[in-house]
Amino acid sequence: MTGAAQKVPFSPTEPYKFCPADGTRLGEPRPSGGAQCPHCGRSWYRSSAPAVGTVIVEDGKALVTVRAREPEKGRVDLPGGFLEVGEHPVDGIMREVREELGVEIEVVGAPILPETHTYGPDGGYVLPVGFRASIVRGEPNPTDDVAEIMWLSANEVDAADFAWEHDRRMVRAALEDA
Ligand SMILES: [Zn+2]
Repeated sequence: MTGAAQKVPFSPTEPYKFCPADGTRLGEPRPSGGAQCPHCGRSWYRSSAPAVGTVIVEDGKALVTVRAREPEKGRVDLPGGFLEVGEHPVDGIMREVREELGVEIEVVGAPILPETHTYGPDGGYVLPVGFRASIVRGEPNPTDDVAEIMWLSANEVDAADFAWEHDRRMVRAALEDA
């Protein structure tokens, strides 16, 4: 985050102030959290941003990544990221893993719904959707967003410096079931 951004207070739940369609100042937020534009009549809501993550398990070890970028740079994370507008979560996790690791995966079993959290201390709320997955093609290699990859065994999960505790729990559960 830039220094300029840090000087503008905005909480993860604060209603929008201006209409994204025409820039008019919005009216007072309703109890539902929505705020209506007096010019175009649209109502606007703050929502969590959907994000996808995955645990890839091979030979009793889980693939985790070390973040190359802020927030939480240098800490342990799972492959994944934010969905694009209109994107299906399964398509999204396949795309993210392709971008971050250069491999093709297939999703295994039902999605997992970890608790919501913010994206860094100043960021908006995330709605995380988790998957277990297997690599079906390629050897994982870190790209832009990933500093390095590590394969954790069950006895290394507690000591790893996870950026988000729900990721640690997802990894632990996946290794217990593997
Ligand atoms: Zn408007």
